[in-house]
Amino acid sequence: MSAVNRKGSRQAGLFADEPDGPFAGVVLNRPVDAVWTYRIPSRLVERLHPGGRVTVPLGKGNTPAVAYCVWIDEELDPGVDPGRVKDVLDVLDDPPLIDPTMLELTRWMAGYYACAWGQALDAVVPAGVKKGAGTQIRVYLTVPDEVRLARETLTLSPKQAEVLAVLCRSEVPLTIDDACRLARCATGPIAALRRQGYVHTVRRRAAKPDKAIEPEAEPPRAPLILTDEQRVVLKTMEPRLTEGGFATFLLHGVTGSGKTEVYLSAIEQVVARGREAIVLVPEISLTPQTIRRFRRRFPKVAVLHSHLSDAERHRHWRSIASGDIQVVVGARSAVFAPTRKLGLIVIDEEHESTFKQETAPRYHARDVAVKRAQMEGVPVILGSATPALETWRNAELGRYTRLDLTRRVESRPMPEVALLDLRHEKPVPGTLVGGLSEPLRKAMQDALDVGGQVILFLNRRGFHTFILCPKCGHVVKCDACDVALTHHKGRRRALCHACDAERDPPTCCPACQAPSLHYGGIGTERLEREVKAAFPDRVVRRMDSDTMRSPGSHEQVLRAFKDGQVDILLGTQMIAKGLDFPNVTLVGVVNADTSLHLPDFRASERTFQLVAQVAGRTGRGDRPGRVLVQTFCPDHPAIVRAAHHDYLGFVGDELARRQEYGLPPFGRLVRLIARGPDESVVRVFLDAVAEALRSPASAAGVDLLGPSPAPVIKIRNLHRYHLRLRAATAGPLQTLLRAVMPTITTPHGVELVVDVDPISLL
Ligand code: ADP
Ligand code: ZN
Repeated sequence: MSAVNRKGSRQAGLFADEPDGPFAGVVLNRPVDAVWTYRIPSRLVERLHPGGRVTVPLGKGNTPAVAYCVWIDEELDPGVDPGRVKDVLDVLDDPPLIDPTMLELTRWMAGYYACAWGQALDAVVPAGVKKGAGTQIRVYLTVPDEVRLARETLTLSPKQAEVLAVLCRSEVPLTIDDACRLARCATGPIAALRRQGYVHTVRRRAAKPDKAIEPEAEPPRAPLILTDEQRVVLKTMEPRLTEGGFATFLLHGVTGSGKTEVYLSAIEQVVARGREAIVLVPEISLTPQTIRRFRRRFPKVAVLHSHLSDAERHRHWRSIASGDIQVVVGARSAVFAPTRKLGLIVIDEEHESTFKQETAPRYHARDVAVKRAQMEGVPVILGSATPALETWRNAELGRYTRLDLTRRVESRPMPEVALLDLRHEKPVPGTLVGGLSEPLRKAMQDALDVGGQVILFLNRRGFHTFILCPKCGHVVKCDACDVALTHHKGRRRALCHACDAERDPPTCCPACQAPSLHYGGIGTERLEREVKAAFPDRVVRRMDSDTMRSPGSHEQVLRAFKDGQVDILLGTQMIAKGLDFPNVTLVGVVNADTSLHLPDFRASERTFQLVAQVAGRTGRGDRPGRVLVQTFCPDHPAIVRAAHHDYLGFVGDELARRQEYGLPPFGRLVRLIARGPDESVVRVFLDAVAEALRSPASAAGVDLLGPSPAPVIKIRNLHRYHLRLRAATAGPLQTLLRAVMPTITTPHGVELVVDVDPISLL
């Protein structure tokens, strides 16, 4: 790769006092928005390219630090004091880790998500790749060209001449061991050649001798015969798939309408012309079932999930970078996969909030994907049964092309959804309101009696979901967080789901010392017990992050369920997504209201999506499916619309409400969160931040809301305050942040988080 010139090259060293170039611009993984200039010493010139990491001396003490090279230039920027330019110490990656597109993309991310370029760069390269996991540094011998040409004229011992001949003949660089072996000598002659400067050494990173575990090959499967709707959708996308060019398609297809089949066919067209595809799915849907569908159609699939070891991740990264892979399937960070000839990006379940990263840089993989596709001139497909309102709005505005799959394949009907009003339904005797109601139990019985299987969904893990003092009303919370403790009865522990701290379940009230506490609420652990009691002869399995701790347990339960060895599968959102079991004839939503009352403007949207997704898990085979949704709010529009599979109706209601309040997608939000151990320091600091923002914000037409305590006021002993900035478009927000943020000094111990397009407001 050639060096990037920022302003075209002029003769270097025009002024006598100017150090000789070339120079490298480098950025550091720190929250400082600056590019530093270093001189590249001649011994490193060949090995340094933009996108490579270097070590540079930092500060008065010249402490070595790792940095990313973002440009190389022959001349020094006029603004840089030549007397202060130091030398790059070493080059860490050759070839560079980051290609020019990724450099550009990370620069955009830094600007858009208000973080430093170095932070964005550091986030796109997996840790295993940076560490070179699974590789080792090896020393290779090289022969300079002058020596090669003058070889015959040198005075050498026979052994030295033999080694030199071996090195000159070899087409690949040799290590000292290789050379000794081939020249049948000890290391002495090599050392002598090095001393005389006839042989040089370079250090390179090389893969350790590989005992690669190849995934079991899947028997190939021919494409299905597409439905008419699928054909129309593919026809519309075809020009972009076969010729390239940027376009964003929103594939709105009801559950079971064959979206995945559309992705596979689209990828086939792209792969057929030698290009690669990236498919992003929520981590939770990276099930063996999903992966198999891709492996059956494409021989070279790389899967990037969070359980990979550093060495495995590194190996995948390298094989993607070498152009050896056709399809990359992965969670959020796979959007940065170093493909060589990208042809398509697919985002399945694009509405999922897990595509948003909740640590800096707080990027949204969907939006980054659209940007990357635009930069690389390729299409992107966003697929969902319940698109995010932001995406829907973009389609309404014509920025995205909407494509619909309105029917399930093979004319399977959408499942019939019935609401059960928990205010009036009687629970199964001996159980709790909010658990298994009598109609739900009866429906389960009916489904099981005729050989069907049942899925029960409850988005709360644990046994009791709260511990309350009946005398003073105190709810027992975590010591470190403003979060109620959950009782995990099997483990005999009370757990905080925010910080994972655990303790013995309290026996008396921590506030008033009353000796008896009320343990209430129902989580999946308790539901499992109730279901087992109601169906003693049936096989019940629970799937949540408590029961699915050991590797492979997830797959094992799903396989048993698929094979009919399990009658009732119950669990958290782990079972809500993507599962495709033809024999499931009943889905029960045990409590649809768990996310309905959160202090977050997306609470309705989340509830609608969840109920619609869970309902989609049934009726996927020859038998029709039924869905029972238990709720205390049977009149809530989100729940009523979900029960009628009425996405359009829901969107109509919700968009009107969002527009009225200027909320996304009708406005943009930025959330600033200050957190620290001392509440008053945090509060005073965020007040000062608000003061600094207030008048430039109002001049720029940006609303400032707050500051106020965050809804969850403490997590891990850090007190939290937040404020929100709101504007009609993103531009003024970015200008404001760029102007004001550098002027803010954060007090010791306090962290200021900038969250652009926040997904969570808690
Ligand atoms: P979605 O992703 O929209 O939920 P899928 O692509 O998983 O839908 O399709 C649902 C089921 O229908 C799968 O079992 C799939 O194999 C099957 N299917 C998809 N397209 C077709 C088709 N054209 N003909 C027959 N079956 C199909
Ligand atoms: Zn806690």
